[in-house]
Parts: sequence; structure tokens; C-alpha cells
Amino acid sequence: MYDLIISDIDGCLSPEDSSPLDIQKISQIAEHNRLAFAQNDRPKLTLCTGRPIPFAEGLCRLLQNPSVPCVAENGVWIYDPSCNGYLMDPSITDEQLEMVHEAELFSLKSYRQEGVTLQPGKSASVTLYHPDPVVLQRIAPQLQESFDQHGFEFRVSLTLFYINCDLPQITKASGIDRLLEMTGVPADRTAGIGDTSSDLAIAQRVKTFGCPANAINEVKQVAHFVSEYEQIDGVLDFMDFLMDEKP
Ligand SMILES: [Mg+2]
Repeated sequence: MYDLIISDIDGCLSPEDSSPLDIQKISQIAEHNRLAFAQNDRPKLTLCTGRPIPFAEGLCRLLQNPSVPCVAENGVWIYDPSCNGYLMDPSITDEQLEMVHEAELFSLKSYRQEGVTLQPGKSASVTLYHPDPVVLQRIAPQLQESFDQHGFEFRVSLTLFYINCDLPQITKASGIDRLLEMTGVPADRTAGIGDTSSDLAIAQRVKTFGCPANAINEVKQVAHFVSEYEQIDGVLDFMDFLMDEKP
């Protein structure tokens, strides 16, 4: 019934904090993918993440995906494992890349004394990290206001430990559009999973959307399936649900 499962990483396949991946459960998904690619009898799982592209590439390899593109950096990048392709969204202009660098420096200067750092490896977005979500919740609206004042066009959104500042035309949905165009998979043969606000864009594109128990309320409200389990247990639960679903 489905060709693809498009999964967020943080808070779904792996914890958003820096604790280890559950290697046994990741292996279950890798084995699912190995069979999916060998037998073409079940949906292949690929990634749609705000993480930088090297993290997506590493996890894509671990999950035994040899050929279905992944979306990284909230839609900035497609990583194509079939040709080791790094494909930036062609709508991103040189002026926007220059604005990203200016906004990076502005964010660092404004908030580093509060212990905020910038996530390395971003190309066309700015991501601020702080170990305390309360600090980020306070900073996020200030940052949006400052960006608006300086003419920096960004959409500012929160995950648990990060503030993501993305270009207006770039979302997980724009990334999924490119992914579906490259693969020729129709949107009504896709399922998706996510847990925070940027994943609402996954929900907009896929036929069936699921979330783990740790998802924020806005995400739960749009989900067809809300697992009672957290993180990767919720992903495995959703995969079972999809495999059991009758056409
Ligand atoms: Mg997440």
C-alpha cells in the first residue's frame, strides 16, 4: 500500500539529546529496509530531517538505504545515496546564502554569552543550540523580531534543544516535493513520521502521518496514528500499523 516511509530523525529514530542510538532497534529498521530493497514487498524507509546532511548520510547508510534520496537541513539538501549526490534546493539564491552567513554571525554575537552555540554543518539555515529548552523558548521570539528588523527573511521555529531559522521557501515539504519528483513515487503512496513543528510539513505531504508519544500536541492533532510509545518504539509501532493496514 505504501512505497515510502519518510521519517524524521531527532525524537523519532534517535534521541534529540546526545544519548546513544538504540542499536538493536535501529537494526530492526535496517533489516526492514534490507528486505524492502531486496524484495520490493514493503515500504522503504528514508529520512527527512533538520540535521545537517552528513548526519543524514551516515544514518542513511546505517539504515541500509542504497538508493532512495533523503531530505536534510529541513529541505535545503537532498542526499542521493545512489550517486553520492549532494543536491541543494536550486531555488536558494546567492543573496540568501550571504544573508545566512550574516545571520549566523548576528546570532552568535547576540547569544553566545548566554551559552548558545551554533550547530555546525548547516549550509543555508542557522540553528542555535542550548541545553536548556527554557532559554531557547525565551530567545526564539526575540530572534524572529531581530531578524525581521534587520531584513533577514527567516522562519524561526523550535525543537526541544534547537532553534531552527529556515529560509521562507524551504521546508520539509519542499524537500519531500523534490524527493517525490526524483523517485516518481506518488504522494498517496507515502507515509511519514515526526514529532515537532517542522514535521507538520511532512504531515502536509504524506498520505498517512504518525507520531511517537513524545510528539508535541500540534503534531498529535494532525496525526492519523499516535503511538503510545516514545521515539524509536513509536516508529516501530507505526511501521507495524502501516504493514497491518488493509488496502
Ligand atoms: Mg524531531
